[in-house]
Amino acid sequence: MAKKSDKRRIIGLVCQACKQRHYYTTKNTMNSPDRVELAKYCPVKRVQAKQVETKKSLGRNEVKPRR
Ligand SMILES: [Zn+2]
Repeated sequence: MAKKSDKRRIIGLVCQACKQRHYYTTKNTMNSPDRVELAKYCPVKRVQAKQVETKKSLGRNEVKPRR
């Protein structure tokens, strides 16, 4: 049986203005199965830019098996 926390994954947000990652957040994969886009501040360009979810694995979504 899946745990409650299995649906909420950590994602990285890639800035569309400078192609860097400024933010990390979580999303519910059940409620938002598509790629999420958020308008957030870019500290490099100093403007509000679109931040798109990256599919790159962050290695933190995997839970270590407990013995
Ligand atoms: Zn940026």
